[in-house]
Amino acid sequence: MAAGPPYGPVTEAFVDALRLAVGAEHVRTDDEARATYGADALKKGHPADVVVWPADTAEVAAVLRLCTAHRVPVVPRGAGTGYTGGAVPSFGGVVLALQRLDRILEIDERNLLAVAECHVVTGDLQRAVEAVGLFYPPDPASLPTSTIGGNVAECAGGPRAFKYGVTKRYILGLEAVLPSGEIIHTGGKSVKNVVGYDLTQLLVGSEGTLAVITRVTVRLVPLPPTQVTLRATFTTIRAAVDAVTNLIRARVVPSALELIDGDSLEAVATNLGTRALAPEGTGALLLLEVDGLPETVAEEGRRVEQACREAGATEVLVAHDQATREELWRVRRALSLSLRVLAPMKVNHDVVVPKGRVPELFDLIDRLRAASPGVRIPCFGHVGDGNIHVNMMLDPADPVALEAARVAERALFEGIVALEGSISGEHGIGFSKLPFVPLELSRIEIDLQRRIKAAFDPLNILNPGKMFPE
Ligand SMILES: Cc1cc2nc3c(=O)[nH]c(=O)nc-3n(C[C@H](O)[C@H](O)[C@H](O)COP(=O)(O)OP(=O)(O)OC[C@H]3O[C@@H](n4cnc5c(N)ncnc54)[C@H](O)[C@@H]3O)c2cc1C
Repeated sequence: MAAGPPYGPVTEAFVDALRLAVGAEHVRTDDEARATYGADALKKGHPADVVVWPADTAEVAAVLRLCTAHRVPVVPRGAGTGYTGGAVPSFGGVVLALQRLDRILEIDERNLLAVAECHVVTGDLQRAVEAVGLFYPPDPASLPTSTIGGNVAECAGGPRAFKYGVTKRYILGLEAVLPSGEIIHTGGKSVKNVVGYDLTQLLVGSEGTLAVITRVTVRLVPLPPTQVTLRATFTTIRAAVDAVTNLIRARVVPSALELIDGDSLEAVATNLGTRALAPEGTGALLLLEVDGLPETVAEEGRRVEQACREAGATEVLVAHDQATREELWRVRRALSLSLRVLAPMKVNHDVVVPKGRVPELFDLIDRLRAASPGVRIPCFGHVGDGNIHVNMMLDPADPVALEAARVAERALFEGIVALEGSISGEHGIGFSKLPFVPLELSRIEIDLQRRIKAAFDPLNILNPGKMFPE
């Protein structure tokens, strides 16, 4: 078993040793740095004692050796866009800010891969490979800021997962540093490798609890030559979900298939200060993209339009040019942050059910809406994957709403598990979803995970207090 707290104190001598390891200018203990690196997009947290910015893998290893020697907890951090508090210390200690590991090391056109340091911003990596006609499909809405290391640690998904899959499908190999300071290399540049357990995939989605990922080798695919984005509006969510069912039945696989409900549309329109984003009376909108060769795209676009119209779409817009496509996607990317115009507090859940059970998921959400006074529940997300972001918006000063949201949260997770789904499709557990893990994993499964953790991190210093209940 991994050992738990108590941890060693962060002494002046320990901080001096960190300064020696990474340079004094790359170590901060002031309140501003401690607070900034003590929170992520969850907006709840606990300050770090000290923040360090190593320059490279060797310095990451030196910091981890010191943390092991002094038994000080250490939390790897990418861009801090995580929604579950994963990059936030639960027990103080060191935040390992990886900003300086930000180089794209190689784009290998012959082998269809790229090698990047962990803090390369995902959107920058995509642009760099697209410049040579290649494509890295995973596209979390946070891609202008989130990092490839953070995406690997969370196994980030995005709209294109419907056709292309999530981050794990694109990770060929990793360089990572164990809590002991030892450096490991998993996988590699070949697409096949069955020697030993698959440590690469074990580290994908490990939320910074097993090792610090310093380099990532990603698989690339040819850039699809043509993309068309469609926006279909419906008066009800049910009709939009019917359109998705029609599409799946017609065996059309759009590269993206996103649903936005009426409340979410209202929030984006207010936040962006734009005119109405859809015709009057729109209860749900589907954002769809098809990609591939021009003739295939034209045919698939027609079939998508037909499936939407048969389900009762009130309008179907087709964006062929880049500017119009960008505008449609800007709305989608602005959603998450725009919801705050509806209420000051957002409790964000990214539940997922098997595709065929999406209608039952929306029935469940309707029941929660009816039973939760003072709580608005706008929903949007990757409906093609059955992965819906269910947002509970409320005023934290309203005790009735707070209690209603607490009850609705548990009811949501219990309902999801009953629908054969998962309590998190993308955002991970961090510390915010810890109490709900036993709804999905058995005691045996949790114990097995604890033993894997102990094999990597016997002193339990690497991002403790995350992923499974202590
Ligand atoms: C506006 C917005 C939209 C979002 N949209 C999506 C979306 O569409 N899909 C989606 O999946 N997520 C989404 N997210 C959540 C978030 O962006 C992802 O979880 C992302 O992968 C986090 O990357 P990051 O670099 O910010 O990592 P951080 O938040 O810094 O860290 C996340 C976790 O990874 C660990 N970690 C970070 N870097 C490393 C490393 N190098 N080695 C080991 N562990 C590491 C941390 O310890 C932490 O546990 C969104 C967030 C926001 C704010």
